[in-house]
Amino acid sequence: MKRFDYSRPTSIAEAVALGAQPGSVYLAGGTNLMDLMKGNVARPTRVIDITRLPGLDTIDVLQDGALRIGALARNSDIAYHPEVSTRYPAVAEALLSGASAQLRNAATAGGNLLQRTRCAYFFDLASACNKREPGSGCDAMGGENDLHAVLGWSPQCIATHPSDFCVPLVALDAVVEIEGRGGRRDVPLDAFYRLPGDEPQRETVLEPGDLVVAIRIPASSAGFADHSRYLKVRERTSYAFAAVSAAVALKLDGSTIVEARVALGSVALKPWRARDAERVLVGKTVGEAAFTEAAAAALADAKPSGHNAAKIELARRVVARAISLAARGTPEHMPALPASVFAQPEGAALHV
Ligand SMILES: Cc1cc2nc3c(=O)[nH]c(=O)nc-3n(C[C@H](O)[C@H](O)[C@H](O)COP(=O)(O)OP(=O)(O)OC[C@H]3O[C@@H](n4cnc5c(N)ncnc54)[C@H](O)[C@@H]3O)c2cc1C
Ligand code: SF4
Repeated sequence: MKRFDYSRPTSIAEAVALGAQPGSVYLAGGTNLMDLMKGNVARPTRVIDITRLPGLDTIDVLQDGALRIGALARNSDIAYHPEVSTRYPAVAEALLSGASAQLRNAATAGGNLLQRTRCAYFFDLASACNKREPGSGCDAMGGENDLHAVLGWSPQCIATHPSDFCVPLVALDAVVEIEGRGGRRDVPLDAFYRLPGDEPQRETVLEPGDLVVAIRIPASSAGFADHSRYLKVRERTSYAFAAVSAAVALKLDGSTIVEARVALGSVALKPWRARDAERVLVGKTVGEAAFTEAAAAALADAKPSGHNAAKIELARRVVARAISLAARGTPEHMPALPASVFAQPEGAALHV
């Protein structure tokens, strides 16, 4: 590991000033950053420990009814918070399907948004990787890329964003609160990430020094609570990143879908909002025909990036299944690992 300076600011303003210095990086739970530093993939000159900053670990309902999740709130605290599990159950389900209990107790909301891709070539210093070393090439292209991107990729980078948490967040119109040198600003999560294009090393709209301080989910998105699901499919039943995931939230009038939200995970370098699928669903009667048509719309622009054509069909099936689960209704007690062989029948496995 490269030597680095260590700072522990006591105010957000101090953190932002330090963070704006070249070579600086923020440290939250450290579950991603420390791995990257130990592997020499990340080589910061200054690590800014933000864990003692006051007021960033709270989860509050605001006056307008929105839920505000502080950037330092731990993944497990968010998942088990009653306001999350009752109003935004797909968020709880996504968090509980990620990583392990130990990691969820350490990982933070802000760190989850900003975790780096799990592309194996990005972690391997002997491989060409435009994201780690701009202009060096992309060894994933033509390499082992069964799980790489099928949407929004460029010839410069075919990596995916691995977060579970972000998928229901983008479906529910979450907003990221950012404190920077110019003050505070809000950015919708859907606009927070950049697609790779010619600059895969630039992953978000964050500028030097920008600190994520909170994530807000609007009050109106709680209207989907009765018909919300997160479905994650992975290579083994637990403790693995998604091969493909989908968050679906519906509003029904009898058997007619009146509003729909659909997002996919691990198909692109950002959580992928599938607005075409949403348009297909609105006005349709609940049933396999509508689910299949919407899933096809969600993947209509998908293209294999190498050996991963099967992922497109897998994603279609995951979306259709997630819509079907959401239409059946949010279970009173949600199984944390819906695909797990250890899961109880729906309704039996407590997560709250
Ligand atoms: C074995 C393993 C399995 C995992 N499985 C899953 C999984 O299935 N699903 C899933 O979603 N995730 C999974 N993860 C990833 C895990 O969720 C992330 O490592 C974690 O969320 C990162 O949070 P952190 O607080 O530890 O971030 P850190 O490691 O501290 O930071 C990560 C990045 O975010 C930046 N950062 C952190 N906070 C802020 C802030 N407030 N403002 C600006 N920048 C910030 C840091 O500078 C760094 O670049 C897994 C991780 C491991 C190690
Ligand atoms: S896919 Fe992206 S992260 Fe992976 S090797 Fe290519 S450039 Fe690097």
